[in-house]
Amino acid sequence: MSTPKKHELGTGVAIGLVVGGVIATVIAITDQSFSGPIGAFIGGACGAYVVYDKIGRSTIAGLLSGLLSLPFFLGLSQVFVIFGLIPLPLGPQPTFTELQSAVVVIALMDVLAGAVGGSILGAVHHPTTVQSEAATQPIPSGQMKYCIQCGALLSPGNPTCPHCGVKQPQMPG
Ligand SMILES: [Zn+2]
Repeated sequence: MSTPKKHELGTGVAIGLVVGGVIATVIAITDQSFSGPIGAFIGGACGAYVVYDKIGRSTIAGLLSGLLSLPFFLGLSQVFVIFGLIPLPLGPQPTFTELQSAVVVIALMDVLAGAVGGSILGAVHHPTTVQSEAATQPIPSGQMKYCIQCGALLSPGNPTCPHCGVKQPQMPG
């Protein structure tokens, strides 16, 4: 299993918004309902996956991916509408004000869905810090012993030097 690498926030958002926009468009072709937020959710998760960080940066990556997937989705779906792949809704055409409020509502849902998707990925997919914390922990100086022969650092409880093999005198404490 290869170790994923951390990426810049911009890289994650760029990938997330494209994935979100494409998925939203694909959903829009088959089913009109909630295509934007579903795409934003998956896009936000993808963005957070690429950024590969904990909740916080992952949430921001998801939020931005979700928000920016909307103009990408609108632009892409417009192309499909022009080519007749996405049917325009029947009935009376919405007014300009109705369209504006619809875009605002979808934008808010996209932001929320993207942030949720990013947070979930940040919770399950982030670098582990257990090893680095243990590595930076200093060894208590009172427990450190050195070989009487070569001066190599001895592991605690080992009566023989791992470097030269000389048996060490047992000191109290
Ligand atoms: Zn030694």
